[in-house]
Amino acid sequence: MCGIFGYVGSKNAPEIILEGLKRLEYRGYDSWGIAVVADEIKVNKKVGAIGDLGAASLPGSTIGIGHTRWATHGGVSETNAHPHLSSDKFFALAQNGIVENYLELKEILKKKKYKFESSTDTEVIIRLIENKLLDLSHLKEAVRAAFLELEGRNTIIILTADNQLIAARNGSPLVVGISGKEIFFSSDTLSFAPFVKKALVVDNGQLIVASNGQITLFDIKSGQKLPVVLDNIDFESSKVDKEGYEHFMLKEIVESPYVINQVLNQDPKVYEDFIRNIKKAKNVYTIGSGTAGIAASQIAFYLREFGKIAVVPLIGADTNDYFDLLTRDDLMIAPSQSGETADVLEVLEIAKKKGVKIASYVNMPGSTMTRMSDFKFMAKAGPEICVMSTKVFTSQIAWGYMISKIISGQEKEGAASLKKLAGEMEIYLDIKNNHEQIKKLAKKLAKTKDIFLLGKYQNFNIIREGMVKIIEGSYLHAHAIPAGDLKHYAITLMEKGVPVIVVVSEDVAKDDVLNAVNQVKARGAQVLAIGSKKHEQFDYFLEVADTGETSAIMNIIPLQLLAYYMAFELGNNVDKPRNIAKSVTVK
Ligand code: GLU
Repeated sequence: MCGIFGYVGSKNAPEIILEGLKRLEYRGYDSWGIAVVADEIKVNKKVGAIGDLGAASLPGSTIGIGHTRWATHGGVSETNAHPHLSSDKFFALAQNGIVENYLELKEILKKKKYKFESSTDTEVIIRLIENKLLDLSHLKEAVRAAFLELEGRNTIIILTADNQLIAARNGSPLVVGISGKEIFFSSDTLSFAPFVKKALVVDNGQLIVASNGQITLFDIKSGQKLPVVLDNIDFESSKVDKEGYEHFMLKEIVESPYVINQVLNQDPKVYEDFIRNIKKAKNVYTIGSGTAGIAASQIAFYLREFGKIAVVPLIGADTNDYFDLLTRDDLMIAPSQSGETADVLEVLEIAKKKGVKIASYVNMPGSTMTRMSDFKFMAKAGPEICVMSTKVFTSQIAWGYMISKIISGQEKEGAASLKKLAGEMEIYLDIKNNHEQIKKLAKKLAKTKDIFLLGKYQNFNIIREGMVKIIEGSYLHAHAIPAGDLKHYAITLMEKGVPVIVVVSEDVAKDDVLNAVNQVKARGAQVLAIGSKKHEQFDYFLEVADTGETSAIMNIIPLQLLAYYMAFELGNNVDKPRNIAKSVTVK
C-alpha cells in the first residue's frame, strides 16, 4: 500500500526523502511525490517508478515530506499524486488511507465555495483544514479539528512553510524515528533503519508535531499532551539489497536457513510467561491473513500435535462469528511480517477490548501489532522485500514448532531438530542441480492452466501455501486439496495430463497420501512429488532430506522455488506480482 515519509534535520531533505521512499517501494505504489521548504514549499510529483529526477530537481532543504501513492480516489496522474498544496501554499499534505465520508464533506465544502483541483479524497482534507483555520488561528488545532471529522482509516502528514511537520494517525501506520536532532516520519521503521536506533510508534488517535528539533505528541480528541515513549529499533540487517540475486524472492528463499537459526538464537526463557498463559487459557486462537494466515494454521497444527492444546486458527478477514465467543480467559497468537495488516489488527482490537491476551510474532520492528501485544516476539528475519512472503513464512512456522516443543517439555529435541533442518535446507539450496530440476518443471507447469496440490496432516498447510505462492507468482489457477478429501469432490477434475503436486513425508499420513496418488494416477494425472522417498507412481520427484518432525518446513522450499521459477518463466514481475501489495494496511 502507500508510504509516507517526512524528514527534518541537518542532511539534504530531498535526498533523504527519496531514499526513504525507495525503501518504502516494496509496499506498492503507482505515483509519488516530494515537497520541501526552500523559502517557500516546492513540490515535485511523478507517475510511475521512483527515479532520481525528483531529488535532483528540488532545491536543497533540511525539511520535507514524501509519499508513494496507491490510488483509491481519482486516476493515477501528477495532479492526483501527493503531496497536495493548500490554497495559500502555506502547507503541503500527503495521506495514506481512504476518507470514507469524503463525498459528504466535499458537498458541504463546495457549498462554502471551496474549489477542488484533483479528484482525490485527500484534497477534501486540505479544504477542511482551511475551513477550520477560519475559526482557529493555530494550524495544529485546525488539523486536529478536521481530522476528527474524517471517517475511515487514515494517516496524514503535513509540511508547513515555517518548518514544521505535523502528522495524525487513525489506522494506517505511522512511526517517528529520532536520531539526535534528526527526526524521521514514516510508514515503517525499515525506511529509516540505517539512521535511527530509537523510534516512537504513534498510536491511533494521536497527533505529532516536529518543530525546532523537538517532537510533541497529542491526543487528538482531547488535545492533551502525551508522554513520548521511544522503542529500540533493532533491525539486525536493515540492508535492502539483492546482493547479486536477480530477484529479492530468490535471495529471501536462500535466507531460510538463517531465519531458522534466528529462531534458535532466541533464549527459551523469553517464552516462559507466554507459555504459562497458553497452558492456562480457556481458548487459544492463531490469526493471520494470506500467507500469515496459513502460517497461523500451521502454528495451530504444531500446538495441537506437540503441545496437545486445542488451538483454533482464524483468517483475519473472516472472524465475525468468533467475536461473541471471545473471553478474558482466551489467548490469541498473531504471526505477521509487517505487524500492520488491517484485517488482523481489527480483530485484535476487538479481542483486546474483550480482555483476550494478545501474542505476536512480527518481523518489522516498531509495529502496531507488537505495540498492542501482551507477549511480543520478533522474527528478526531481516527485511523481506518481495511481496510474496517466503522466509518469513518459514520463520513463523519454525517458531510455532519450537513453541510447541517447549510446551511439551521437549525443548532440546525441538532445538536439535530445527538445527538439523537449517543444515539440510542450506545443503538443498546450495545444490545447483536442485534449482535446475525445479526450473525445468516450472517451464512445463507454466504451460498448464490448472495445478492441483495434495497433502495431509503436517503437509496440508504446506500445500495450501504452495497454492498461494503459485497463484501469486504465476497468475495460474492452483487448488490445494486435503489428500483424503479428494475422492469426495475434486476427483471429478482428474483427467489425462492434469498436473498434481503431491507433498508427502515419512509420517502417519503417508499411506493415505499415496492412496490419493493412486486415485489421480488411475485417471491419467501427471504426478510431481516432493518428499524424501521415491515411489513408482511419481512421474517427477523432487527429493528433500527427511528431517522428521520438521519435514513440512523443509517441503515448503521446493514449492517456493517452483513458484519463483514459474513467475520468472512467465515473465511476471517476480518481486511485485500484479494487483497485490505487501503490507495491506487498508481493509
Ligand atoms: N485515498 C488517497 C488517494 O487516492 C490516498 C491513497 C493512498 O493511501 O495512497 O490519493
